[in-house]
Amino acid sequence: MARVTYTDWTIPVAQIGSRAGQSMEIDREFPAPGGIGDRIVGVDEGAPVRVDGRFDSIVDGLIFTGTVRAPMHAVCIRCDIDLDRDLEQQVTAFFPYEDPAVGKGNGKDGKSQDEEIEVLAGEDEAEDVYPLMDNGAFADIEALLRDTFVDALPMQPLCRPDCKGLCPQCGEDLNEHPEHAHRQADIRFAGLEALKAQLEAEQGAE
Ligand SMILES: [Zn+2]
Ligand SMILES: [Zn+2]
Repeated sequence: MARVTYTDWTIPVAQIGSRAGQSMEIDREFPAPGGIGDRIVGVDEGAPVRVDGRFDSIVDGLIFTGTVRAPMHAVCIRCDIDLDRDLEQQVTAFFPYEDPAVGKGNGKDGKSQDEEIEVLAGEDEAEDVYPLMDNGAFADIEALLRDTFVDALPMQPLCRPDCKGLCPQCGEDLNEHPEHAHRQADIRFAGLEALKAQLEAEQGAE
């Protein structure tokens, strides 16, 4: 029998796992697991994650529905400003009974259970499958939290959809100074400017 490791993300659910049709509310904080994003965009490991929802027992396992919310750090890709926001996601996850002896006990054909899970997961991409441990006594939500937040991280975080970014020449924030502009110093005339300066210098030397 596989050794069961209890972590910060194992939730005791034995009270509803005994038969179908029961539910258990949950509303508490968990530490964010590692591996959600990076230093630019992500959720810090150990940051408080609010899990608010319920587990419902069905014949084949448990369904979790609810919301998860965590503080996200990000930097606007245009203006470089720090964005500290909450990342909140709706979650529906399925925790199948791994041991066919638990649940309704149709253990002779474990394959049909797997197929059923595949169908469930395939039909609705929002519904993901996560493990129960210890004969269904605990639900492990570590991977659920990680997957949910990784999927929800913005690819290109913006402080606002129409962020004007920074002046490419001096770095001024164009959101705060929309009229900001530099005197036209066209690159095409840079050579002429240099030639003019050189001629003037030569004339001065005569
Ligand atoms: Zn911005
Ligand atoms: Zn500028």
